[in-house]
Amino acid sequence: MCIINAFKLLSIGQRRPKQLDFREQLMRELLKQLPDNQMPRKEGAQHSSANALAKDHYSILSSEERDCKQCSHRPDHRQQTNYVCNACAVHLCLGDCFHRYHTRV
Ligand SMILES: [Zn+2]
Ligand SMILES: [Zn+2]
Repeated sequence: MCIINAFKLLSIGQRRPKQLDFREQLMRELLKQLPDNQMPRKEGAQHSSANALAKDHYSILSSEERDCKQCSHRPDHRQQTNYVCNACAVHLCLGDCFHRYHTRV
């Protein structure tokens, strides 16, 4: 409805209005006004987060032994570890727990 009204206004004084052309032009103008950040950038975000994980998160040997953060919610299977994630400062078993803690959703 809005498009038709705008078309009528613009077509005043024109002998042979081309409605199809006008609509196409209007669509292009609308698309131009869309902000860039609405475009999906899934691939880039995943790439950078994977890089950050590899760079900053690694196990370092701590002087104190504590319950593994990943295992501690399981009362039947408490595991203590000397290893801490460098970036998270959280006690985590090497291997499985370390991986699961950083890939949790
Ligand atoms: Zn970490
Ligand atoms: Zn663990």
